[in-house]
Amino acid sequence: MKEWLLVLKAADAAARWHVHHRRKGPAEEPYINHLLEVAMLVAEATGGSDTNLVIAALLHDAIEDSEVPRELISRTFGEDVASIVAEVTDDKSLPKADRKRKQIEGAAGKSTRAKLLKLADKTSNLRAIGVSPPADWSVKRRIEYVEWARKVAAGLRGVSPKLEQQFDEAAHAAERSFTPAL
Ligand code: ZN
Repeated sequence: MKEWLLVLKAADAAARWHVHHRRKGPAEEPYINHLLEVAMLVAEATGGSDTNLVIAALLHDAIEDSEVPRELISRTFGEDVASIVAEVTDDKSLPKADRKRKQIEGAAGKSTRAKLLKLADKTSNLRAIGVSPPADWSVKRRIEYVEWARKVAAGLRGVSPKLEQQFDEAAHAAERSFTPAL
């Protein structure tokens, strides 16, 4: 299949698999907006040279949030895509605190493509917190999220200066959103 057809097929699958998901902010954006943003970020960071990474970005939350079987992703989009998605998927059988700690500890050991994808994911999430933070998140929780994201990102650096800069800008914007102007 032509590459761009496969990318569209992944966008279509992502829209269906996350049809009932919304972002946590008060705007309640459809979840596909997040998936498209992450796909755009990795596409730009790689100059459009890695189609499978873009497809994996569109599908990066499918296993974790929608319980799409890895095998279905492999059968439909190939084992290369499935392996990238699996690499960025948390083990949901672990308590949340353990998962968050593992993300920090495991970041540096990820493949270059998984690092790009995780950095794009964190950038998108920080942008959302800056613009439209979840209504039930206290300032403390927002501060803790930004601190945690920075710790994960520390292990993801060295793969794309452009994406790292976008991450840093998103982290600053998120901080500015809860820091009074002096
Ligand atoms: Zn995500």
